[in-house]
Amino acid sequence: MDGLAALPHPRNELVRDYVPGSPEVVAVQAELVRLRSERPELTCTIAGQQRSGGGEPLDVVEPHNHAHVLGTLHQASPADVGDAVDAALAAGAAWRELHYTERAAVLLRAADLLAGPRRPTLNAATMLGQSKSVFQAEIDAACELIDFLRFNVSFGERLLTERLNSPPGSWNRFDHRPLEGFVLAITPFNFTAIAGNLPLAPALMGNTVVWKPSPTQQLAAHYTMRLLETAGLPPGVINLVTGDGVAVSQVAVPHRDLAGIHFTGSTGTFQQLWATVGENIGRYRGYPRLVGETGGKDFVIAHPSAGGLIEELCAALVRGAFEYQGQKCSAASRAYIPRSIWPQLRDRLVAATEDISYGNVADLKNFGGAVIDRRAYDRAAAVIAALRADPACRIIAGGGVDDRVGYFVQPTIVECDDPEHDVFMTEYFAPILAVHIFADPRYDDVVAQAADVAPYALTGAVWGADRPAIAASLQALRYAAGNIYVNDKPTGATVGQQPFGGARASGTNDKAGSGFNLMRWVSPRVIKETFVPSRDYRYPHMG
Ligand code: NAD
Repeated sequence: MDGLAALPHPRNELVRDYVPGSPEVVAVQAELVRLRSERPELTCTIAGQQRSGGGEPLDVVEPHNHAHVLGTLHQASPADVGDAVDAALAAGAAWRELHYTERAAVLLRAADLLAGPRRPTLNAATMLGQSKSVFQAEIDAACELIDFLRFNVSFGERLLTERLNSPPGSWNRFDHRPLEGFVLAITPFNFTAIAGNLPLAPALMGNTVVWKPSPTQQLAAHYTMRLLETAGLPPGVINLVTGDGVAVSQVAVPHRDLAGIHFTGSTGTFQQLWATVGENIGRYRGYPRLVGETGGKDFVIAHPSAGGLIEELCAALVRGAFEYQGQKCSAASRAYIPRSIWPQLRDRLVAATEDISYGNVADLKNFGGAVIDRRAYDRAAAVIAALRADPACRIIAGGGVDDRVGYFVQPTIVECDDPEHDVFMTEYFAPILAVHIFADPRYDDVVAQAADVAPYALTGAVWGADRPAIAASLQALRYAAGNIYVNDKPTGATVGQQPFGGARASGTNDKAGSGFNLMRWVSPRVIKETFVPSRDYRYPHMG
């Protein structure tokens, strides 16, 4: 088909409110009931065929009610992963040759299906499997994934239509080739949108993919795969393999045709994958692209001029630290508050924190649910026990844990005098907010110290009304965060508005949901054509 089709201009998907009795509540509740009554096999999908992994079984449970099994997966075996790589390679030629607008159409159709009939299913799966409140599921599984789909189509179009300078007599153009080989997408438990975007962004640019979701996100990943099939994604373009990733590390990472890894998860896992690539560097056909968004120790720093913003600062801290049980990579986990405003903030913050209800997310009145699994619970419980026993720390809110029904960790605030304490440096990935109170005149020193004390540089926020102080803080914190906020919480980046990612130990900062990211999944070829080539080898200066 000829014709330079302009793709639809994207707009952010509107977030629904889920007020009691609304149609969206009725729809999501019906799906919660349905998904809870089923117990499917959560399969691999290889070359368009669903099949059980060849390894050990693993139950996927509700974190807030761990006795309830939502489905069972079998770990993908090395043979399954080998088949998935072969399927991706076999599907490569046809997918690459399909015009960008046709590939884009699959994503646009998936976006509309998700905005419409599939919305309650993916939201309900995310609520049950990952223990998200309905609002947290809506902004993730529905809105952010829809935005990734629609905006990436537009960013890709921009990349493909970029012009090169062509002086008279010649024509220069790009051929944005998909990478040679397959892309490996390894995705985290905490965002259904990221899990969908990591295989889809390279696929949009013409790559074929092996996708390994987190086992604790497998329920929503299962329904994401079904959504893509309905949208018309050809078999083999994205091949889903289940399990903990051991077989993927053994088979796909050292594979000669590995063209890139698109990863989001912990810093340790990414470093391990990078090291494996390094060990195998002589075996690959090309240099694999390594794109990874990893951990954070995200800060909120208040200037003494934030005294007129106490209620706002309090709300931002509570939402930033305790939404989704502190399990966002961008979650506020350390706050620096001037002594002059702490007395007004402290009681309000403690009261709001103790008011938070974590419980069964199917009860929409709850603010949040449980932490993701036994490992996360045990880690958080151990951290809280250590803080309780530490004379340098005072727990001023929360501190309770209870795993009888679900993996519940109370939202916890710990005050600590030593700004070099572990609570200001280590990512716990739990609802634990560390607070350091400082003498007002030390503000600049505190900012400088906070900028470098943790190995991460993902998100942060500065609060205040004094404009020169805010400007100086932004400068001092220039390399401390890839996404920084003024008078806002450090979470909630929106596709098309705040492209997301951090540097240092937080990742390669390739900004998911932007043209920067899509550029990593193409290998440009430049074509120069001369319309009337010279007939003479000699130059004018030769007389
Ligand atoms: P994780 O590192 O435990 O797991 C991530 C993925 O890697 C999962 O699919 C897991 O099964 C897989 N994996 C683990 N070991 C593997 C191995 N040896 N070989 C192959 N695959 C392997 O992370 P998680 O607990 O799922 O997610 C939480 C982490 O993700 C936090 O550190 C958080 O900060 C980070 N995160 C970062 C961003 C960001 O944009 N920067 C976004 C979301 C989450």
